[in-house]
Amino acid sequence: MAAGLPVRVRLAPSPTGTLHIGTARTAVFNWLFARHMGGAFLLRIEDTDRERSRDAFTQDILDGLRWLGLRWDEEPVVQSERIDAHRAVIRQLLASGHAYRCYASDEELAAMRERQQAEGRAPRYDNLHRDLSPAQEQAYIAEGREAVIRFRIDDDATITWTDMVRGEMRWAGSDLGGDMVIARRAPAGAIGDPLYNLVVVVDDAAMAISHVIRGEDHIANTAKQLLLYQALGLTPPQFAHTPLILNQEGRKLSKRDGVTSVGEFRAMGYTAEALVNYMTLLGWSPPEGLGERFTLEQAAAVFSFDRVNRAGARFDWDKLNWLNAQVLHGLAAGELRQRLLPLWQARGWAGEGAAADAGWQEDLCSLLGPSLTVLEDGVEQAVPFFETPEPDDGALAQRSDAGSQAALTALLARLPKGDLDATAAQELLAEAAAAAGVKKGVVMKGLRAALLGSLKGPDLLATWLLLHRTGADRERIVAAL
Ligand code: GLU
Repeated sequence: MAAGLPVRVRLAPSPTGTLHIGTARTAVFNWLFARHMGGAFLLRIEDTDRERSRDAFTQDILDGLRWLGLRWDEEPVVQSERIDAHRAVIRQLLASGHAYRCYASDEELAAMRERQQAEGRAPRYDNLHRDLSPAQEQAYIAEGREAVIRFRIDDDATITWTDMVRGEMRWAGSDLGGDMVIARRAPAGAIGDPLYNLVVVVDDAAMAISHVIRGEDHIANTAKQLLLYQALGLTPPQFAHTPLILNQEGRKLSKRDGVTSVGEFRAMGYTAEALVNYMTLLGWSPPEGLGERFTLEQAAAVFSFDRVNRAGARFDWDKLNWLNAQVLHGLAAGELRQRLLPLWQARGWAGEGAAADAGWQEDLCSLLGPSLTVLEDGVEQAVPFFETPEPDDGALAQRSDAGSQAALTALLARLPKGDLDATAAQELLAEAAAAAGVKKGVVMKGLRAALLGSLKGPDLLATWLLLHRTGADRERIVAAL
């Protein structure tokens, strides 16, 4: 890249699946770098695989990026709309002799690979049709054969670049599998569907991309793409290959590991803030002073590829959970309510009576907030506030305790119909204990068993005050007697 060119980076997802955590992490690094450099973060939807691409996946990817807070700066480029430009470049490569038509049939290619295998060699295209004479070509066409278009890769070429993560890189042309297919098979004279390495170069050049930041599984593609830049007389961008995300066993994170799409993490109750924070840590070591808990903006201020590791990054659920808990615990009750309300409503809750009141809901959020790890916990733990809980064994045992019964009876007799505040509630507990001749702890245990159907749960007084506002405290004490 010539000095002074504006920084323009892109994410180039293929809409053949939902937004994968690996793609999202690539998006994070692109976004952070663009922000840090005052550049632009662009999107290109690589939908040239027509069989497998779906509009619904494009939507999922865009929604996921928006949810994560990774805004892009220009209208997304749709690769399939640029096919004329791709074909024009293929024509140019054919004209300049950098590309040629290869008529080899599937059977011939399979036989070639078998031969190579038998000789203990790695499979590669043997460049057999590289220099067909016009007469040979005519003969294949007369046979009715179709042709792919291949780009010449000289075996003795050496490809080098300075990778922003991995430093000096060097590839031998002979390790790239022979002349590469840049357009699928098509009838004589036509140009079939252009393929990945070609279209990426054409589009990155057209979009004036200055830095290509993508997963290290693309390193061999980078070598091939650099040869295309050279053949086309284009200045290549700089490259940064980010480490893969690994599972606990140290293998590439895949579908087999269960959760891999951003939508799945979201559905499990992870916040966007925690997820982007965590993805940033997957492969990047924050400089001292930033700590591990930060916003995207804070990370962007200090982001550089110097601190991106070469080694794969192991996915660590404990750290993600810790970050998510930090985010949830830091939310104001009103904000937490905004996030939990749709989940509660999906359960048919929060629609009527005092439970429909925003103030009541916020107070519930204040109560539950500090114990949440994922948002879903705010649904599970809210069950007894919206539904009458089934008492567990501990609660049933407590109910059958005579002292507990006496205390609850005394409490019920004194329970006001109207408002109840913390001071009055404390006094009520003391009065009920005295009247029943038991310790205050027994009243509290009995009340907890009656209200929550369990001896465990959040702060009793706050729980009671909330349930008093919906009238559920009276019902449940009655039911427990
Ligand atoms: N569509 C490619 C992918 O999803 C893009 C790779 C690249 O960034 O060039 O892997």
